[in-house]
Amino acid sequence: AKRDGGGVARRFDPVLFAKAEQRRLAEQDLMRGLEAGEFEVHYQPIVDLDQGGITVGVEALVRWRHPEKGLVPPALFLELAEQLGQVPRLGGWVLEEACRQAMDWQNRFPGFEMNVNLSASQLGNPKLIDEVREVLRRTGLPPQDLVLELTESVALTDLVESARVLSALKELGVRIALDDFGTGFSSLSHLSTLPVDVVKIDRSFVQAMPETGGASVAEAVLHIARTFNLSPVAEGVEDAGQAERLKELGAGRAQGYHFARPMPALGVTELLDKQSPV
Ligand code: C2E
Ligand code: CA
Ligand code: CA
Ligand code: CA
Repeated sequence: AKRDGGGVARRFDPVLFAKAEQRRLAEQDLMRGLEAGEFEVHYQPIVDLDQGGITVGVEALVRWRHPEKGLVPPALFLELAEQLGQVPRLGGWVLEEACRQAMDWQNRFPGFEMNVNLSASQLGNPKLIDEVREVLRRTGLPPQDLVLELTESVALTDLVESARVLSALKELGVRIALDDFGTGFSSLSHLSTLPVDVVKIDRSFVQAMPETGGASVAEAVLHIARTFNLSPVAEGVEDAGQAERLKELGAGRAQGYHFARPMPALGVTELLDKQSPV
């Protein structure tokens, strides 16, 4: 054991050391990946249940194309990126890439919608509004076809500030979606405070729907959406039964493995090729 000036005994802890070392390497790797531009945007179709399940838009989902690990999902790097302060930069890139791609699809499908996720650090970034305005200008995407998704926890961290930022975004003409809706407890009282257009019904409620009859949380959430005049999108639809039931309940739009998994842009283009223009 070594003694420092304060007389506190400090022993070398191999486990702690290994952890710190692992973390240092992960940070280095992520910074390298960001420098090297190893990130990709994949897109998951959002379908219209009332129009026979045609694809009317997509949600942009970031992935890391790691040279050794292959395709890494956001759950494995977003938190570290957040801690390193890199999410506004990465998110800004995702936004621009997604809007550019949306314009490409809009050439054949006017009104095709692009959903992009925003994290708390992006919402808290004073440059966000200018950035969104600039991306819309550079790409030419009609503002009403861009939907910015944020979770309730993001929106409710600082309600007054969130309401201000969201109002400024809405002035640009973009739409706002509450993601994972229903998973936060304080949500109801804030639905009238926040300028929200769309609610994404969390997949836990979709998965918990009974096969036949019986009330469900999904149904209750849909009722709330209607009451507040919000457009619902059901998330995590994994089978035909859920899709049928959601359609009957008037969900309108849905997203999930039953329809399509997230895929590279080319996959969506091929899917749209098989779909006649609306
Ligand atoms: P999210 O916004 O709730 O996105 C939906 C997630 O559910 C995606 O996971 C998607 O692949 C997955 N999913 C879609 N359909 C199904 C289904 O039928 N069953 C199941 N079990 N899962 C389904 P993914 O792509 O791994 O993203 C995870 C989370 O990472 C996202 O959750 C979002 O919070 C965050 N994220 C992804 N991309 C971005 C981004 O560009 N910026 C920010 N800030 N966050 C992002
Ligand atoms: Ca549209
Ligand atoms: Ca989302
Ligand atoms: Ca979600």
